[in-house]
This record gives sequence, C-alpha cells and structure tokens, in this order.
Amino acid sequence: MVGEVVDRLYRTRNASDAELKLLIGLEDPSLLREAALSRRLEWYGRKVFIRGLIEFTNHCRNNCYYCGIRAGNVSLGRYRLAPETIMELVRDGYRLGFRTFVLQGGEDNGYSDEGICSIVSSIKKEYPDCAVTLSIGEKDHGSYRAYFDAGADRYLLRHETASQEHYSSLHPSRMSLENRKACLWDLKRIGYQVGSGFMVGSPGQTPDNLVEDLRFLQELQPDMIGIGPFVPAANTPFATKKAGSVDTTLNLISILRLMFPYSLIPSTTSLGTIAPAGLEKGLEAGANVIMPELTPPDEARLYSLYDNKPVSAGALMITDGSLRERIRAIGYDIVTARGDVAVPKRP
Ligand code: SAH
Repeated sequence: MVGEVVDRLYRTRNASDAELKLLIGLEDPSLLREAALSRRLEWYGRKVFIRGLIEFTNHCRNNCYYCGIRAGNVSLGRYRLAPETIMELVRDGYRLGFRTFVLQGGEDNGYSDEGICSIVSSIKKEYPDCAVTLSIGEKDHGSYRAYFDAGADRYLLRHETASQEHYSSLHPSRMSLENRKACLWDLKRIGYQVGSGFMVGSPGQTPDNLVEDLRFLQELQPDMIGIGPFVPAANTPFATKKAGSVDTTLNLISILRLMFPYSLIPSTTSLGTIAPAGLEKGLEAGANVIMPELTPPDEARLYSLYDNKPVSAGALMITDGSLRERIRAIGYDIVTARGDVAVPKRP
C-alpha cells in the first residue's frame, strides 16, 4: 500500500488527501525517503546550496502568536543593522563562498522602501554575481515592485497555514490569510523567484490542515519551500505549547521533494534546533539548501523567533570548515553558486 502510494507520488506528483495523510504520518518512512532521494539526485545531484542569512532588524509591527519578535514582546531589546554593517556581512559572506544573501526581518516601519532599495542595489552593484532574497513580510504592490526594480531576485513569504480557521487562531484579526496569499501571487506576477511554506505542528494544526498546505503549494507552484517545526518562544501566547514533530517535518520534506522535484527546500534552523543532527536529517529527507546565519552574535541573540535558536553558528562553522565537513560526512557537498531554481519540467 505505502509502496504503491509513494510510487504514484513519484510518477505523478500527486496523491489523494487520504494518501497524503498516510505518508505524513508514516512511522517507517524508508520507501518515502528512498523515492525522495532519487528525485533529489536527479534534479540537484549531491549539491547543497548555501544562503547567507542576515537578520537585519527585529522590529516588527505584527503580533503573530507564535513568534518571539512580535510587537507585544516588550521585554525584547530591539535592533536594526546599519546599511554599512549589512555590506560588511555581505563582503565576509562572499569571501566564505556565499552567492545568495537573504535579508530577513520583522515588518519594520523604520525602513522606507528607498532604504530597502538602497541596501539591495548596493549589494547588487558590488556583487552582480549574487542573488538577493528578501523576507520582510507583507507589503503593497508598489513596494514589492520597487525592491524588484532595485535588483531583488527572490522573496520568501511563508503562508504559515493554508486554513482560514487555523490562520486566525495563529494571528490577530488584523492579519489575514487572504492578504498573505495575495502577496504571494503578486510577488510571482512581478517576476520574483518565490518561496512559501508553513510551520509543522503549530498549535491547533490538524493533518487536514497539512493537506491544505500541500494543496495550496500545488496551486502556487513556488520555487522555494521552507518548512520547519513550530518551536515555542518565551514571552508569546504560545510559550508553553508543545513543539512540532521532527518526524512529521522530515516526512513532509520528502513529500515536498516528490510533489515539487525541482524546488529549493531548506533544511531549516528550527529543525536543527530541536533535533540532534536535524540539519543532516533534513538533507537526507530531500532538502537541498541550508541557510547559515551571518548576523553578528549580539543581534542574532535578539532575533529570537523561538527558544534556543543557535547564535551565528552558521558563519563560524563555514569559516572553520566544520559545516562543510558535517555535510561531506553524509555524502553531500556545499557549492559556491547562486543556486537558482531548476527549470520546472513536466513529469
Ligand atoms: N516577517 C517576515 C519573516 C518572518 S520570520 C515574514 O513575515 O515573512 C521567518 C519565519 O519564521 C516565519 O515565516 C515563521 O514560519 C517562522 N517562525 C516564526 N516563529 C516561529 C516559531 N515559534 N517556531 C517555528 N518557526 C517560527
């Protein structure tokens, strides 16, 4: 039964809702992993793309119930990196082999569109061979357009959950799933490589919600798909909730690799935070991207999306070679490349 479902997902990139739920909950995922690995090798070989993550501001106007940098967390010290500091991090990152930089932050009203555009265009001017990815939340069309015209190549905006009801249990009423989805479509139309995704095991999530997430991704056909377990964060309404399941996350990574074989899927920091060797496990489940953090330690500590998030381990581990070694030990290779999405082809 499982073998047949996996095989069909492999060949047709689709399965029924009930079959998807079966795969999501698999306790012995060996067949699923094997199929995902085969697709991964076919599309991306043993390459692992690296993205230099620069968490440039933890100011946020939103109040997502799960997120440690929500506006309501008044006990958190706030920071903004100066444009010159960001440029220095990019220069260090370039020397280490990074060819994609991800500028991520809260929805910070302290930056004008001109401010963001100027950071993006300075990076592109000095390093035209690099891709710049933005991950700064929901903006209007004019802003997205302006960042794109300034040179931004990619945009990450997880939909978080594709169920209306579940979305409203994770966010205050001024935020809507409808607007988040509209932003994703807008970004696609403008021409960005677009990333979406969701948290696994966020409070109240059901298996049906996860199927809805996969169905929404089938509609959107994103280039990048980021998922990671929910991890509780201090000073949030969900501080005492249970973390999401590592096994479910890994099964979902394999399912995503089969449904979207061409896509860029990171083995995320939250996975690495709650699972021993989580980074490696994500890659072995079908992920092909890692996003080491270049943010300086003092600020990284304050970019506390959830508890026990590691601090600037990424860049350090690249510098001393230990990250490359860890990846090599499981048979994969960090490459120096922009790592654009493979051109989607039909099954
Ligand atoms: N403000 C940007 C960036 C958000 S932070 C935006 O709105 O897109 C990046 C991602 O971290 C979020 O999309 C969310 O999925 C994840 N995240 C936030 N809090 C988390 C938590 N407590 N556990 C796991 N992931 C979390």
